[in-house]
Amino acid sequence: MKQNGWIEPQVHKSLEKVSQKFHNGLIQNEKSITLQSANDYDALIILRWRIRECKSCHQSFDITMEGLLYKCGGCII
Ligand SMILES: [Zn+2]
Repeated sequence: MKQNGWIEPQVHKSLEKVSQKFHNGLIQNEKSITLQSANDYDALIILRWRIRECKSCHQSFDITMEGLLYKCGGCII
């Protein structure tokens, strides 16, 4: 994980528990995760999931393509 820059030790620990691949600073999850389940899972890595469910319209989106936090590109405007 060195190539992704410095990660806080606690965050690093949390990320090690995740079974999905970690790349470019993000967990490469295939199924979208909601803010609620990300928070329940581990609040430290809440913003490390790539595919998220928009909290406004409930559509899945890819944070590397659009959106901000847990809102998709269409809902942050
Ligand atoms: Zn949305």
